[in-house]
Amino acid sequence: MLERTVKTAPALPAEKTSPRGVYDRYHIDTQPAPDLTQWPSRFTVKVQRSGLAKLLIKELFHYRGRKDVILSRPCLYGVFSGPVGGFAPREHLCVGCLRCTTEFPEFVQVEHNPARQRLGDDYFTFGYVDALTYEAQTGAIPVKGAGYRGKFGGQGWDGMWTDMSEIVRPTRDGIHGREHISTVVDIGYKPNALSFDEQGKLLGTAPSTFSLPLSLMFDAPPPNSAEDTVSTISSQTAVEISTLSILPLGQIIKLGLTGDHIVPLVKPDEVENLRLLGFALRLIEMDGWDQTLYDEIRAQFPESQIALRLPFTEDDAVLGYVDAGIHIFHFLADYHGKNEDDAFVLDLIRATHKTFVDAGIRQEVTLLGSGGMIAAEHVPKAIICGLDAVALDTPLLVALQAEFQGQCADRQTSHFEMPKRLNVEWGVRRLKNMSATWRDQLLEILGAMGLREVRRLRGEVGRAMFMHDIEKEAFIDVEGYRG
Ligand code: SF4
Repeated sequence: MLERTVKTAPALPAEKTSPRGVYDRYHIDTQPAPDLTQWPSRFTVKVQRSGLAKLLIKELFHYRGRKDVILSRPCLYGVFSGPVGGFAPREHLCVGCLRCTTEFPEFVQVEHNPARQRLGDDYFTFGYVDALTYEAQTGAIPVKGAGYRGKFGGQGWDGMWTDMSEIVRPTRDGIHGREHISTVVDIGYKPNALSFDEQGKLLGTAPSTFSLPLSLMFDAPPPNSAEDTVSTISSQTAVEISTLSILPLGQIIKLGLTGDHIVPLVKPDEVENLRLLGFALRLIEMDGWDQTLYDEIRAQFPESQIALRLPFTEDDAVLGYVDAGIHIFHFLADYHGKNEDDAFVLDLIRATHKTFVDAGIRQEVTLLGSGGMIAAEHVPKAIICGLDAVALDTPLLVALQAEFQGQCADRQTSHFEMPKRLNVEWGVRRLKNMSATWRDQLLEILGAMGLREVRRLRGEVGRAMFMHDIEKEAFIDVEGYRG
């Protein structure tokens, strides 16, 4: 862990200050957390036995019986090095490098395993599940290697590209810890300008924010997902990485969870239970607008910030809540990133951000978002589109090896089967690993763009290209183009 002595400037709010006057640079510890449930291997390896036997006999003579060499053939990863050699390939070790099938196409074939491809659902496809599983297992960024032969554009998030091709990259060192790139996000109310009366007294509402060292937090698990254990894992991880865990009020009370990393999600009919929370909170989230609930939270928790949770909307009626006192919004799409009008979360974030920009109050509010953000790259993209921070939902479950039971788009009715041996210690490791790799990938983007802090990325659409716009620009004059 890096340490640096603080001389004059105060430490960032999100850095941990020690009594010795030093601060620890924000860092998430990772450690291996292998899968609890054996999932189908990524690849199937089919070997023609006679072909392999001939090769082994030939190599036995060639390498004069050197067992270590012979057993590493034709796969360095040990797929053919089990007790019965290649006659029972250990498919779970295959990384899909295709060396064997390139060298010996006549008797080895490697293919994607259809059973693995059934993990996830139509939106959280197995490619995303694979990447996230690797991140949660290892705490390392998946590297696909050179020679990408896939598509460079597509629907949804794939139609948005981050632009870092022609700029100097002064903060490249930030990725490796030699310079500091901040992922701190401010949550709360910041007025556009301060104004004072003749006595120098501040007019209007005073600024009120707190900071998190990471623009990620954890959203409440859905009802059908072993939610007690998942909630405990989410809460414990939030403590360890200094972020927030949004949890239903009833569950917080039931599990006896405490701490200001917890954000109670309160429904209007739960107003009576608020008094059961006997600890200080930084943020309380209202599950839909209700004046009585708002007044009660204000009265009981005058120091806490209040967030309003509501579906993404392109209606500027949302501005009315600002007049009512709300400065933190948590917008939701479904787990497939859609709202009820079938608009995609990327466009919804842009529209919502613009609503506040047009009203001249974007700096005064904090916008959080959930739904359809399922890969590390989606976080910086969502921030570029206008969010301040992302509250993760299905990625938490997939990191914990959830199996989707059918299509899981709806927040209330989707069903996820969690591993039977799910436990808190393992779960916390997995979520820490995932958070660390997602932060590293956020640093990669910031470093590549030459930005020193994530706050400057918010709404920076000039740092992105949208496939639809580019196609339109290029093809608008072509007869038959239908934009
Ligand atoms: S594809 Fe690569 S990892 Fe898989 S069996 Fe062949 S050589 Fe081994």
